[in-house]
Parts: sequence; C-alpha cells; structure tokens
Amino acid sequence: MNRLFDKKEAWTNKKRKATQDELLVNMVKLGYKKSARVKQIFDEHKIKPINIKSREDLEKLPVTSRERLVDMELQEPPYAGLSNPSISIDRIFTSPGPVYEPHLAESDNLWARAFFAAGIGPNDIALNAFSYHLVAAGLTFHSGLRKVGATVVPSGTSSSQIQVQLIKDLKVTAYVGTPSFLSSIIAKATEMGFDFKKDFGLKKACFAAEPLFPDMRRSFEKDYGIDTYQMYGATEVGDVAYECSQKNGWHICEETIVEIVDPATGKNVADGELGEIVVTRLNEIFFLLRFGTGDLSRIITDQCKCGRTSYRLAGIAGRIGDAVKVRGLFIAPSQLKMIQAKFNNLPLQVLVSRVGNDDVLKVRAEKVNPEIGTAVWEEKFKTIFREICTVRIDQLEYVSVGSIKPEDKLIIDQRKW
Ligand SMILES: [Zn+2]
Repeated sequence: MNRLFDKKEAWTNKKRKATQDELLVNMVKLGYKKSARVKQIFDEHKIKPINIKSREDLEKLPVTSRERLVDMELQEPPYAGLSNPSISIDRIFTSPGPVYEPHLAESDNLWARAFFAAGIGPNDIALNAFSYHLVAAGLTFHSGLRKVGATVVPSGTSSSQIQVQLIKDLKVTAYVGTPSFLSSIIAKATEMGFDFKKDFGLKKACFAAEPLFPDMRRSFEKDYGIDTYQMYGATEVGDVAYECSQKNGWHICEETIVEIVDPATGKNVADGELGEIVVTRLNEIFFLLRFGTGDLSRIITDQCKCGRTSYRLAGIAGRIGDAVKVRGLFIAPSQLKMIQAKFNNLPLQVLVSRVGNDDVLKVRAEKVNPEIGTAVWEEKFKTIFREICTVRIDQLEYVSVGSIKPEDKLIIDQRKW
C-alpha cells in the first residue's frame, strides 16, 4: 500500500464512478440550494438537480470557459455567485482576468497525490519556486508538500542566485516550479562555478504551469541527474492530473471528474480521441460545474503498471484554437511535432480539404533520404500517424528538400465553411 497515496488510487473504476457520482449529486443539490447562479443556470437549461445522477448527465450543463467565468464574476463579484455563503473561506486567490477563487478546504489533498507519486516524502527538503503572492500556486503546492511530509523552503520567485544559495546551504533534495526556471537556476549555478550534478543533492523536480519539452526533460535527467515529473491543474479547479514513475500519461486526481469534450458541442468524445479537458472539482465550496480549460488532451484507459487504476491524460496537445477537426476528430500541431520527433525531425505538413462531403487528409513530407517513400517506411509512418493523431492519412505526397519552410503552418485547413 506504500506505493499509493491512499486506497482510492487502487479502486475499481466501478467503485470510483459510484463514489464520484454520489459526490456529484450532493454538489449539485447543495449548489442549487446555496447558489442563485447555479439555480439560474439549471433553470435556463430547464433541468432540475434530480436530473444530474451521474457524470454522464453533466453533458446537460454548459461548459464554462475562463473567459465566461471572468464575465460572470464581473457581473457578480467576487465569485460569480458560485460560492457557498455558509462556509467560511480561509483564503482567496486571483488569476488573470481577474478571476477570484475561494480556496478549497485545508483538508483537501491538493497536489499531495502528485508529490507522493513523484516519490517526495518526509526525507525531502523541497524548494517551492512558485509565487506566493495572490495566485494560488505557491500556497497550494506548499500545502501539498506538507501533506506528504516534506520540509518546504518557500523560496517563491526569488532570484536564481538566491535559489542556488538555498539549494546548497539547506541541502535541498526536490524542486517544485516551472521547468524554465529550473533551467535558469542550473545556468546560474554553473556560472557561479558549481557542478550542479556533483555539488548539489537536488534529485527530483515536479513541474507545472509550463510544458516540459522532451529535450529539456532528457537534459534534466541525463545531464543533471534530476528525476522529473509533470503535474497539471488550474487555479479554478485545483490539481487535475499528475505523472507517476511510469511517465506514461498523467493520472486523473480522485477528487475531480474529467471529461474530454468536443469544444463546439460540449459533448464527450469517444475514449482516446482528442478534445478539450473539462473539469468538475467535487467540493462544497465553489460550485463550478464543467470548467473548460481550453487545453486539448486524450484519455488513456489502459491500466498503468504503477498500480493506480485511474484513467490518464495523454499530456497536453495544445489549446483548442490550434486544433483542426478532420472527420470528427481533432488534430493539433503538437501531435504533428511528436510525429516529426519520431522521424528525426522530418519536415512535414498536413493539408485538410474536402471532396464532396468527405474530409481528405493529405500529408506532405520532404524526401530527405532515399528510405522515405518506400513501402516499409510508408507503412511505419502511417501507423505512427494513426496512433498519435487517431486519424487515417488519405494521401501522402513527397516533396523535395526545402519545400516546407520552418515558418510554414503545420496544419492547413483548405476547406470552405
Ligand atoms: Zn501510473
């Protein structure tokens, strides 16, 4: 059992769903009673709390984007009427907009599951390099670190020189912050004459708020001996997903319901298809049902080797505005970058057109070596393309070296709407 934060992480899907459905029903009932805004949303959509019996019923409710939440809060400051007036709030956070959020109860496991999965515990001294001012990051990561027993150095956004000093003097073992800031801390340490890998004991890093690019990850792990983990969440809903030691998708937190939806309709896509991450945090303080993150991902339903049974998110594929829909499935530039990475950064481009009523997906690839275009290569390319994008290639065109410029768009939508 030591491998898991709590027994919930090993629950069967059936038990997890039953528990979450019950919590959802309670949240909806309470929200309808305590919040005039929730009641108004339900009334506008002609539904009653009793109509929400399970996560599948959430589709009856609208998705609320960050932009929409800002508008609602402007109309009705500070929380758009979505909070529970009967509960005293211990802290209030802001995020750009401004959006205000009442902090979840101190008993909430915010980020603790992520730190536990990253192997952070009572023997660690963790540098928390997220801002402690106004925004939720600093304090919420801090409390998650305390929940797993780590000692926290609340360094916040102090200069990289100060961070290096703290890592050295306090024998810091773990870093929590953005990957780019850790890079600048390492650069500063090198500039100050240290050998980061040899001179310091920092061996683990948990990142959020920025993408961790594969090259960056490789460098942290190989060049500096730092085991890296990704975490995902949003101020409005708290922690959403986190990586385990398998580093093969991000486990969805037990406290949240995550839907992957078509941003145009708000309806769930099939498992494995790309769509917008929509989060409902099960709680009794802030009744934000179906928060639309604007981020794109896919659900992985296979069982993870770590023992956690929760479904996983396949990272973030981009923002909803970047994606193009082909035969009902979204593809995003980040997916094409993943394919390029698997083929030695092969220059390629996707063109989407329409013949009659059918979408046609054509891939243009530069013939940078003789292997490209052979039957074996083509088979392999099409298989990997389908695995990553879930969409089939209709046409493959080979173009001469230099035809696709680095500044060209990765996906061109030629369809007329
Ligand atoms: Zn796992």
